[in-house]
Amino acid sequence: MADGPCPVCQTPSDRKHLGDKHEVTCPRCGHFYVSGTAELALRGEPLDDQQRANASGWIRSRGEITVSSDDVEALRSLETPSLDERSRWLLRYLADRTKAMGQHVDVKFGDQEILAISRCQGSVDLNYILDYMIEKRLITTLGQKTLGGIRAIVTPTGSDYLQGATTTPTPRPVTPSPAGREFAFVKDGSLRVCLERDYAEIQRAYDAKCWKSVIILSGGAIEAILLDLLQADPARALQATGAPKRPDLTKWDLADLINVAVELNLVAAGVDKLSHPIRSYRNLVHPGNELRTGLKFGGEEAKIALEVLHILHRDLTPGP
Ligand SMILES: [Zn+2]
Repeated sequence: MADGPCPVCQTPSDRKHLGDKHEVTCPRCGHFYVSGTAELALRGEPLDDQQRANASGWIRSRGEITVSSDDVEALRSLETPSLDERSRWLLRYLADRTKAMGQHVDVKFGDQEILAISRCQGSVDLNYILDYMIEKRLITTLGQKTLGGIRAIVTPTGSDYLQGATTTPTPRPVTPSPAGREFAFVKDGSLRVCLERDYAEIQRAYDAKCWKSVIILSGGAIEAILLDLLQADPARALQATGAPKRPDLTKWDLADLINVAVELNLVAAGVDKLSHPIRSYRNLVHPGNELRTGLKFGGEEAKIALEVLHILHRDLTPGP
């Protein structure tokens, strides 16, 4: 183990050489790997303070990922989650550390793990989030706030809020949320970064009523998620009745991926029926195909595409 600044957040951390990459144990980002080229890219143009806050929280929430040079741009462009989302993560952290009701948890303003979880740059924004949580009655404090931190107690309102926030949400009509979504269930790290970036783009396209873009991007995201899911156990996927004869899953089309994922109960039945308008989304990319196949794409089709993506996101995001 050698010491050095974490390539992402610059906090002093332990680093170990592993061939062409480093194993990093950072008090803020947690335990992860970073490729030599990614490290060079980060050194060439270091992240700014808020990018660091977002990137370290993101890396920490994913655990043992490898940051490759392809991921650096995505890390740079992570959007800052909403205040509500950040306070919910912090509340979850506090609740997990509360052994008995009413017990307090020490929150130090300089605690690197807490800063990462709440995507804070430092004590100023952490203070702000804590005040917001107190104002919303999610937490209360034991004694006075000091310069070092507070003793936080999760209130009954706070526990109720967490339970409400973590039970499976009921299906609701598509309304793209302003905050980004995380695709923590996707096993392939680089793919996850792409999906999170594309999801943000889908929302912008949806807001701008760019239906064709929504359908193509959502179709691609759905395909990537299902492929990642089925590749966890390719043998099982190949044995499904609806499986095509091709042994290479990456050659399957979206319709095959959907049929097999539904047949194996990996995603909710109904997705197959709902997803009809997007099965041939690839044909939309080329205007010639679009004309030949008479494919329709409008607000309705775009809504359905996004709805399918939301259902997958809901069904595959692990519960507490
Ligand atoms: Zn770090």
